[in-house]
Amino acid sequence: MTNAVDPTLQGLVARRARKSWIAVFVSALVAISLATHWPNVHVGDPTRPPDKIIHFIAFGGLTALLWQIGWIKSRIALAATSLAIAVADELTQSMGIEGRQSSIEDVIAGGLGIFVVVLGIWAFAPVGGPAAMLRQQRRRIAEQFVFSRLGPWLSLLAASLFGIVVMLPLSILIDSRFPRPNPLQAALVGAVLGVLLSSLIMLEALVRRTLQATAHRPRCTSCGAEALDGISCTRCGAQTDRHLFIAWPDVGGGEFLRLAARPLALAVGIVIAVTAVVLSIGALRLTFPLAGQMDALIQGRAYGMTSVLDLTLVASAAAVAVRSFRTRSARRADAASERCIECGYDLSQTPTAVEGYMGRDAAGVARPCQIGRCGECGASFLREIEQGAG
Ligand SMILES: [Zn+2]
Ligand SMILES: [Zn+2]
Repeated sequence: MTNAVDPTLQGLVARRARKSWIAVFVSALVAISLATHWPNVHVGDPTRPPDKIIHFIAFGGLTALLWQIGWIKSRIALAATSLAIAVADELTQSMGIEGRQSSIEDVIAGGLGIFVVVLGIWAFAPVGGPAAMLRQQRRRIAEQFVFSRLGPWLSLLAASLFGIVVMLPLSILIDSRFPRPNPLQAALVGAVLGVLLSSLIMLEALVRRTLQATAHRPRCTSCGAEALDGISCTRCGAQTDRHLFIAWPDVGGGEFLRLAARPLALAVGIVIAVTAVVLSIGALRLTFPLAGQMDALIQGRAYGMTSVLDLTLVASAAAVAVRSFRTRSARRADAASERCIECGYDLSQTPTAVEGYMGRDAAGVARPCQIGRCGECGASFLREIEQGAG
């Protein structure tokens, strides 16, 4: 998608949201640099340090924050920048700081965290034709409204603290049932999961509230004011595309499950397949020299790498499932002019309004469309029209 025409990246709302993300990113960068350069820090049991998982989480998180700022537009450039930060962080540790040394496995653990986050960004990247894109843009604008104000940030912070309070002890409790418990690592993973889960649930609630509110009262996409006179903002003068606030219908529960079933099976299949390959390499290590070498590589990893590799596998499979689900949902949204999403009514003969709309697909290509309403339930739909026919 070309950013020049992306209304979610311009104006006061976008600038405020960007400032918040810069503040969070810089705080995280300072915290990580201090933690990795402080002399003689030894976390937990010295024979089983949790530092691999710390690198995985820290550099994955840093990558996600850097992407949210919006300076870097390509996923490859993002991965390269984050990896450069991870390598620089590791190299500077060997420069005469007492009790610290750099390790290639720390960089690998950080690199896997970066890989997982970049894969996640790919999973949530724009997909589909104009109807699907208009839905995604509507959501992105709602997110920008959320991130541009202090109140929602405080709600997210409160949710994160709540998540830690619940998940940290729970994680230690579950870990203590295993043969070789590592309470510190369990606490860390529990805290991160708690923050992620609860802040994502809170974000979803905040975004939904904003979506509902803006469907009735569209706001200026540039300054965020509820001061639209037609398409012009009476406060800042910018023009807002009101099509960005149309409340499109959502698929029902049954259709949602149908759309989600195959991606879910795909994720489970990926995890099973990779696990089977690793197990068979172990089984064949005595028969084939190559399998033996690969097995030695797998078995010779540093403590904590197992958890990092497990997390990488599960997160990657989840990212593939999300991408597949979003592609299928986008296809359904783009077919809404044939069959109503709300009621399933055949709309292929239903005429659209005379009013045209210049939509864009995920690649940023302009596509002339028209907007119509289902004759059965009244839900809105977007129809792409043949070039020259409209
Ligand atoms: Zn305005
Ligand atoms: Zn309908």
